[in-house]
Amino acid sequence: MSRGRRWSGSSHRLAALFLAVVLPPSVALVWLGAQLLQQDRSLWAQRELERRQAAAQAAVRSLEQSLTDAERWLAEATLPEGVARLTVSAPGVDAYPPGRVLWLPVAPIAQPAATREFIDAEALEYQGQGAQALRRYELLARSSLPAVRAGALLRVARVHRREKRWDAALAAYRQLAEIDQISIDGMRADLVARRASCFLFEEAGLKADLSTEALALEADFLAGRWPLDHPAWELMAKQLPEWTGHAIQPPPGSLALAAAAEWLWSEWQKSSGDASAFPPRRVLAVNAVENMPVTLVLRRAPGEKLDALAILPSHLQTWLSGVRPHSDPTLTPNRGPAPDEPLSLLTESGEVVVGPRPTPGSGGVRHVASETGLPWTIVLNPSDPPRPMQEFGARRQLLMWGLAAIVLLLAGGSYLLWRVIQQELAVARLQTNFVSAVSHEFRTPLASLRHVTELLEEDDELPRERRKSFYDVLGRNTDRLHRLVESLLDFARMEEGRKPYDPQPVNAAALAERVVADFKKDDRAEGVAIEFDAAEAAAIDVHADSASLAHALWNLLDNAVKYSSGERTIRVLVERHPAGVAISVRDAGLGIPRREQKEIFRKFVRGETARRLGIKGTGLGLAMVAHIVRAHGGAIELESEEGAGSTFRLVLPVVAEGPAKAGHYAPISGSG
Ligand code: ADP
Repeated sequence: MSRGRRWSGSSHRLAALFLAVVLPPSVALVWLGAQLLQQDRSLWAQRELERRQAAAQAAVRSLEQSLTDAERWLAEATLPEGVARLTVSAPGVDAYPPGRVLWLPVAPIAQPAATREFIDAEALEYQGQGAQALRRYELLARSSLPAVRAGALLRVARVHRREKRWDAALAAYRQLAEIDQISIDGMRADLVARRASCFLFEEAGLKADLSTEALALEADFLAGRWPLDHPAWELMAKQLPEWTGHAIQPPPGSLALAAAAEWLWSEWQKSSGDASAFPPRRVLAVNAVENMPVTLVLRRAPGEKLDALAILPSHLQTWLSGVRPHSDPTLTPNRGPAPDEPLSLLTESGEVVVGPRPTPGSGGVRHVASETGLPWTIVLNPSDPPRPMQEFGARRQLLMWGLAAIVLLLAGGSYLLWRVIQQELAVARLQTNFVSAVSHEFRTPLASLRHVTELLEEDDELPRERRKSFYDVLGRNTDRLHRLVESLLDFARMEEGRKPYDPQPVNAAALAERVVADFKKDDRAEGVAIEFDAAEAAAIDVHADSASLAHALWNLLDNAVKYSSGERTIRVLVERHPAGVAISVRDAGLGIPRREQKEIFRKFVRGETARRLGIKGTGLGLAMVAHIVRAHGGAIELESEEGAGSTFRLVLPVVAEGPAKAGHYAPISGSG
């Protein structure tokens, strides 16, 4: 018990020692790997930042170039989509190309329609002499002067309309709509005519005509056909839906440009027409249209004028696309941002002009307007999701695999080492058990020898009979010790391969019968019934060293007796076997648990029950049997059930059938 505790104690100590040796290098390795990975990560982050900074610089240069190129448009006739030229001077703001700006701060001045020529005719008209007035108007409507013609046509239409002569009134309006350089009450004559036509259709209840006319008017209005000031534009914008039945949808870009023109005009007035008071470039977050700040590139023009290029975000977008000519995201610096890294342009106050809204703290690279000389703050946003650690990927993978391999090797090696140590421990344990078992085996006969010798010494006068019985005891115990020592030496010889075997043809049945007969005479067979049956295999010869084979059979008989309780009948059977001949020893004893059935053939191994019940033994008997049988080219089989008994079967190859000698062997007894 205490020995068991000692063994388990040392096993625990060994486990602790083992962990102490294996764990620190494993932990250190993992820690080292983690450190290396961390280092890689920060190196990558640093490189990424540097690359993004270089990319942002490239973006700044590219945008600078775009702006410089754009300045050419201040003098060019064709402007790309999303760009308008506004020229500010004392009379107002002029927009180019026409129609791209929805309204102007001051409508351009056109020649007004004539009025004086109609004073007489109008007097007639108001006195109720409409026909006469009409004739005069019609006469003037044929004038070669557009201003007179416009005034006359307007009046012709008025007279007809009053008299509900719709067709005639409409014809006059149609003619008036042909005149576009004359203004009537601040509005172009053609616009006045087309509006009046709509009113006429409304008045006449001609709904279909009204709708057609209004839709055409709406299209021209939204295309910016007429340079209107803001109030006039608003008036139209309010009126049109009443006729068309739907709200007007002006292009947002044009609205933003109109708002920019208004802003320019008010600034111009504030500066009292001083073009030099304007910074050359700026970006305006005009409120007329949400999310459409207009970028202005300004230049002083000859004749106290200010030229401005108004650029919409939609056009800036094309500049931003131009910033990334390389879709190749390799790390070469100055190559511009990678395709998945969005650029944003912001106003001074942080409103987004183009691009996504930068997330604060996301690590975007920022260049403010004051440092670049560009009108915007430029932000190069990091890609989302973050870019993989490309060139570190392979290194990282290698590192991971290397680490995994080392850890695996370490774990595997440790496991093997652990197994070996465990096995060594087990052998050491078995050997200790063996030594103690052998000591016990020696102790009993020695004690008895000592006791009898003392008795003989004490009394010289012992009767002859008694003296003889003492000598018998001395003889038996000396024999026992002799057998024990011989058996141990025999086993040692077997182990070292020094045991000589002298195989001869032997009749298996005869040999077995002889061993059984000898065993029956031994002390230990006392009270045990041993049945023998060899009828089936009486004439079978095996090639065997009789003494060794007898020794093996003796050991089996010895075990059968030792491990039998209750019914003590042993059956020895010699029979045919597919592999030759089988000599089996069957008992109805303790039986052997399945888990032990293989182990008990190893040296020093003793069964759990044997140890628990204190049955004497050394754990060598079956190891010897197995050794002997193997040396004969045979095998040992075991069938056993716990509590029901066991059958050990020695299977030996056959030589020939026929009469053979039983074989001679020195009578021996088992060692187990
Ligand atoms: P020993 O008998 O000296 O212990 P052996 O090598 O002869 O050593 O046997 C090994 C173990 O096998 C025994 O300790 C016992 O547990 C088991 N054993 C052997 N023969 C029998 C048997 N006939 N019945 C039950 N158990 C047996």
